[in-house]
Amino acid sequence: MAEYTKPLPEITAESRPFWEGCKRRQLLVQRCRACGARQHYPRGVCAACWSDDLEWLPSPGRGRVYSFTVTHRTQARGFRDELPYVLAWVELDEGVQVLTNLVGCDPEKVRIGMEVRVTFEDVNADVSIPRFTPA
Ligand SMILES: [Zn+2]
Repeated sequence: MAEYTKPLPEITAESRPFWEGCKRRQLLVQRCRACGARQHYPRGVCAACWSDDLEWLPSPGRGRVYSFTVTHRTQARGFRDELPYVLAWVELDEGVQVLTNLVGCDPEKVRIGMEVRVTFEDVNADVSIPRFTPA
């Protein structure tokens, strides 16, 4: 495995189940047992009603591009080797949005509304990061 030179996620007690899911190739979304709201990123309380009664649900990992930008220039370590790259908000079919990268497609062909699915990149022995690719 090549050395991963981008910043790694900070894995907290609240986000650990999410990252463990990614290791298993499973995208997890939180659902509030009190009000039913779903949310991403992982939090200790429901962003809708502040309940701490949250559960983790597996997501099919399918959705659409909500918005995106293509980065053509950067000097940031790890990122400059992958220019141009796509940073996107993906809206999952469950309704939550995920800030992510689109991979496996020509950045010039990305469109709002494009159907995408999750894929996972093993960046080191402990961390896999979800990305999205055309469905
Ligand atoms: Zn709630």
